[in-house]
Amino acid sequence: MARKMLKDEDMAVADGGSYDYDLFVIGAGSGGVRGSRTSASFGAKVAICELPFNPISSDWQGGHGGTCVIRGCVPKKIMVYGASFWGEFEDSKNFGWEINGDINFNWKKLLENKTQEIVRLNGVYQRILGNSGVTMIEGAGSLVDAHTVEVTKPDSSKQRYTAKHILIATGSRAQRVNIPGKELAITSDEALSLEEVPKRAIILGGGYIAVEFASIWKGMGAEVDLFYRKELPLRGFDDEMRAIVASNLQGRGIRLHPGTNLSELSKTADGIKVVTDKGQELIADVVLFATGRKPNSQRLNLEAAGVEIDQIGAIKVDEYSRTSIPNIWAVGDVTNRINLTPVALMEATCFSVSDYSNLSPYQNGCVKFFFLCNSSNFTFNL
Ligand code: NDP
Repeated sequence: MARKMLKDEDMAVADGGSYDYDLFVIGAGSGGVRGSRTSASFGAKVAICELPFNPISSDWQGGHGGTCVIRGCVPKKIMVYGASFWGEFEDSKNFGWEINGDINFNWKKLLENKTQEIVRLNGVYQRILGNSGVTMIEGAGSLVDAHTVEVTKPDSSKQRYTAKHILIATGSRAQRVNIPGKELAITSDEALSLEEVPKRAIILGGGYIAVEFASIWKGMGAEVDLFYRKELPLRGFDDEMRAIVASNLQGRGIRLHPGTNLSELSKTADGIKVVTDKGQELIADVVLFATGRKPNSQRLNLEAAGVEIDQIGAIKVDEYSRTSIPNIWAVGDVTNRINLTPVALMEATCFSVSDYSNLSPYQNGCVKFFFLCNSSNFTFNL
């Protein structure tokens, strides 16, 4: 369905005069990088802030590229490819291959190569931003008011920047279920950087991440138990397909526990003891919570500018990715719409702002680009 084309009067924001930047972006993941470099290519003066690089995210660590590149789709795919060879080696015997000698899997080698690749991509993202003329600032951004962002740098110093528009693209974080011993479990962040492949893995959740890690670890030789609340994994997908996925997971040797939740974790000499809500007790080397993600909005000081959030902390936006404050925008997982990288990219492409004061060929010509679209229909005004 097409949306209304925004005109200048719709775009009007209280203009307090001159700003350091036309656009300040908080978060250099998929959405933030796309939104900032596209806006810069239209002539806007853009700055972006991002935390220092680390494969495992925290309040003070992140990195250019964001979840998808550093601790999501990209490293996950590397591991999926790594794990897929096990079945191939087995199958090949039925097709005339005779494998003589040991076949060894070197987890450290795979991890090293995975880290090298995400470090490379982290550099690529920074180069793309630099080549687009975007100013990169390292640190955690938070709002001071509707036109001011304060960045806390890695050395704890703080600096303030003003901007006509602010784009929030801080993504989401893995969430843990609130049961006793939850701190003993890991999330997908840590699962992609484990020192050793677990011999006994227990996974809670029936979504993408749970199913993917069950297959990855099984493919690397682990014993895997997968627990989920529903009768079948992958809620929301076609039921027939869900049943086939469940049967294939079992076929690979993954033990499925439908309709079962975990109620307690505790540390023992032999590993992590897991108690289920059906009273079963199991021991594992690793317990993975793959129980969804929540918007990363807590430390943005949104209330200082009056930006509204919903009950789970997602920033409320309209169909144009505009928040409750007219010059503040948000894209990607922090808005909890459809939490997928290509969606964040599209939302950010649709949002692109440039301010006439920076477009020298059009000085005083009041040129504004707002590419506002949905996936099937672009409308834009110049
Ligand atoms: P999902 O939201 O897909 O699945 C969460 C799972 O955890 C569900 O099975 C849910 O159960 C279960 N769960 C939630 N809360 C609890 C609880 N308190 N106790 C027990 N179980 C619980 O999240 P994921 O973590 O798998 O993925 C996070 C995000 O990453 C998703 O948005 C996903 O789309 C995205 N992603 C995308 C990928 C891709 O594009 N290829 C790959 C991996 C992730 P129930 O169904 O019963 O509610």
